[in-house]
Amino acid sequence: MALDIVKVDSVREAAATIAASGDAYFLAGGTILARVANTGGFPVRTMVLSDGLGLDAIAVDGDTIEIGAAATMTRIAAEPRLAFLRPVAESIGGPAIRNMATVGGNLFARYPYGDFAVALLALDAEVTIEDAEKTRTTGLDDFLASAPAGGIVRALRFKLPPDGAFRFTKVVRKHPHGASVLSIAAVLPETGGKVSNARVAYGAMSERPMRAKAVEGALEGRALDAQTLENALKVATDGCQPQTDPQATDWYRMTVLPVHLKRLLSGEGRF
Ligand SMILES: Cc1cc2nc3c(=O)[nH]c(=O)nc-3n(C[C@H](O)[C@H](O)[C@H](O)COP(=O)(O)OP(=O)(O)OC[C@H]3O[C@@H](n4cnc5c(N)ncnc54)[C@H](O)[C@@H]3O)c2cc1C
Repeated sequence: MALDIVKVDSVREAAATIAASGDAYFLAGGTILARVANTGGFPVRTMVLSDGLGLDAIAVDGDTIEIGAAATMTRIAAEPRLAFLRPVAESIGGPAIRNMATVGGNLFARYPYGDFAVALLALDAEVTIEDAEKTRTTGLDDFLASAPAGGIVRALRFKLPPDGAFRFTKVVRKHPHGASVLSIAAVLPETGGKVSNARVAYGAMSERPMRAKAVEGALEGRALDAQTLENALKVATDGCQPQTDPQATDWYRMTVLPVHLKRLLSGEGRF
């Protein structure tokens, strides 16, 4: 089947081109889309190039970070101001994949992928989307919950977490890289020895990256002591609906999640 590659001059033109066609897609790194086009997973007749649209900038304004949707995992891993995100970026594929895989594309990755989106969810990121007529900004939770469709993601914006407050773990069967059995990201700021505004997110524990709101509730306003951990672990799997795939069964994911959450909350391991 013939494939049209379209170069556009603006993000708006890209959005309009895609909106006007039933089988046109935005091509970022292509680590997913090129494979789909080759294997015929779904019909891809047109790819709209992201090249030259200026979507790969990383900007810092005080404690606010804005990452352009076309920034690659390699770029994130090399950015000193985002050192806390390096383990997340480096957990995604091997070097060849990371050189191409973008932050924006990660929001659209299918189960069990989306590890960077999990981190952004814990960071309470906002996403800016441009469609054929307007630009809008929404919380990443809402964006992911509405099964993202339509429009081009321009950028992700979040506040830098306090030093040491961000934690991430990814469980894989094949080291050093592999698709997630599950991943967990958390931002655990502490005020006066108590957790305040905790954000916890899971990957591969439901169809899309999800917030662990019951866990956040169990942590809020409490010291991270044994009793708090016990309370949090009791609700660790609330709302989870993992799938069975070559990495793990749904049962296994439900069973091991509390073990890894406990390690992450108690600061065991490397984050
Ligand atoms: C071998 C291999 C290993 C992988 N390992 C991992 C892993 O460990 N963890 C993980 O999370 N992922 C993994 N992935 C999946 C993938 O590489 C990443 O999720 C990557 O971030 C996707 O980004 P991309 O730029 O390549 O997306 P693309 O393939 O370019 O696009 C994917 C989809 O998103 C849409 N899209 C992309 N950017 C935008 C945008 N800005 N606005 C609107 N729509 C957009 C495209 O139209 C397309 O539908 C792996 C893939 C491969 C092939």
